[in-house]
Amino acid sequence: MPELPEVETIRRQIEPEVVGRTIAGAHILDERWTRPLPPAPIAARLVGREIVSVGRRGKYLLVGLDDGSTLLMHLRMTGNLLLAERGEEARRFGGERLYESSSEPRYLKAELELDDGRLLQFTDPRRFGHASLLEPGELGPYLDARIGVEPLSDELTPELIGRVAEGRTAPLKSFLLDQRGIAGIGNIYADEALHRAELHPLSPAGSMRREHWEALHEGIVAALEEGLRNGGASIDDYRDSRGEQGSMQDEFLVHTRAGEECPRCGERINRIVVGGRSTYFCPACQVRLRRRRRPKRRVRP
Ligand SMILES: [Zn+2]
Repeated sequence: MPELPEVETIRRQIEPEVVGRTIAGAHILDERWTRPLPPAPIAARLVGREIVSVGRRGKYLLVGLDDGSTLLMHLRMTGNLLLAERGEEARRFGGERLYESSSEPRYLKAELELDDGRLLQFTDPRRFGHASLLEPGELGPYLDARIGVEPLSDELTPELIGRVAEGRTAPLKSFLLDQRGIAGIGNIYADEALHRAELHPLSPAGSMRREHWEALHEGIVAALEEGLRNGGASIDDYRDSRGEQGSMQDEFLVHTRAGEECPRCGERINRIVVGGRSTYFCPACQVRLRRRRRPKRRVRP
């Protein structure tokens, strides 16, 4: 699944290609793409609009239009964005991925025709990707209801991590995957951030103390920035779960590296399943925190 680094890479690549272009035609071929709303009225609304910005929040891509509305897109598991010149093979945005045949025309879900004749295409073999057209003023509330703080902004601080984690008994791995706390982190970068922070993925989130908030903050930022430097390289969980591995794993410290040596201490990396997700960590140098107990009241005799 594309995580923040890959979605941001796509955003950076797409922005100079489409900003300033007007949408000359819109074709939505899969009604699931705009669910629960029907696609036809959305396609009609898009035609004639100029694209004025391409932004991102968490894993959402935000295409700003000249009437103040926003076409919000989420790639989910296997969504792709491509740009096609007529008569030529489409170019896919983002880092290398190992999805099988994911950008083939038969997986086309939506297509925006730009005023220079090029086509912005959304393909998705597994059909979980979706889009919403939000009216002016709707974007903020939409995002606030779904995602939390942006990790590569000044908003994310050790103190904020401590506040969000306070009282939470969920394991740190699940805590990081919960988009309502910190947005944009998925299965890969959660593992990478926890390894950098030297924190065990099963530690209860609320058991962290100040030094752990600081370590986790540094770990999140470093892992995501490393991902961005690598062009948002990401592997596909689907292939991962079938035991297939690709060249992308070379980038990771622990993710997909079960049985290999920890790059920090040399212990063998373990794989466990947390909340249904493959989780990789070093059992030697990632500290398992104990659940914090409230101080006991003294009982008077
Ligand atoms: Zn280690």
